[in-house]
Amino acid sequence: MKIAAIIPAGGSGLRMGYSIPKTYLTFDSVPIIVHTLRIFQDSSLVDDVYLVVQENDREYAKNEIVEKYALKKVKKIIAGGKERQDSVNQALSCLTDEHEFVVIHDGIRPLLEKELLETTIHVAIKEDAAITGVPVKDTVKSINKHGTIKKTIDRRNLFLIQTPQVFKKDVIVEAYLNAYRDRYYGTDDSSLVERLGIPVKMVEGNYENIKITTPDDLILAELIAQKRKSHSR
Ligand code: C5P
Repeated sequence: MKIAAIIPAGGSGLRMGYSIPKTYLTFDSVPIIVHTLRIFQDSSLVDDVYLVVQENDREYAKNEIVEKYALKKVKKIIAGGKERQDSVNQALSCLTDEHEFVVIHDGIRPLLEKELLETTIHVAIKEDAAITGVPVKDTVKSINKHGTIKKTIDRRNLFLIQTPQVFKKDVIVEAYLNAYRDRYYGTDDSSLVERLGIPVKMVEGNYENIKITTPDDLILAELIAQKRKSHSR
């Protein structure tokens, strides 16, 4: 049985206010995407990695990321699509018959710990589908169109969802086929599986597994990386 990882990193840097995709910005001396790919390089559970980048960046990613940092598990560098879902879909079509499970993890979540990745994979092997997330800590309310509170939502069963999200390959392939047939776009991969009525197991994750979206997140990533280094000394 082989396990493939799909790393969508084909977004733009526009929200960060940078002219280059944020995935190539650096903290702790290496680009964000290198931190992310190293987690998968280091996990013995993952066999092959499929990296998705913007079409014009494929050559750059090959030379300056994959070859420069000797990320040998990267089997293909794929041109992404308009939305994240399109980028993942491109990579799904590159998997081989040998792949039985697929891990999908955002390129801009470089602080995932290997233990959480591997726990999520183990749960998915047993249950067919598993995702990570963290319990909501703040009180959550919904508002009406006038900006007045409509109701307070019970947060006890609420989670903020992250990646990795791990699925049996047949399950995620079917979910993507159905989504495109129905013109459904979700904000994560799991939502495509959920709408088929397939149960998805929740694995409690880590608040440090942040998605780097704003310049402040990059500062936070640097701090978390330094903290982890000082703890491992
Ligand atoms: O857009 P969002 O911030 O949710 O992006 C999550 C991940 O999906 C990022 O790693 C980003 O690079 C990737 N992405 C992609 N193709 C797109 C949009 C986003 O691979 N068209």
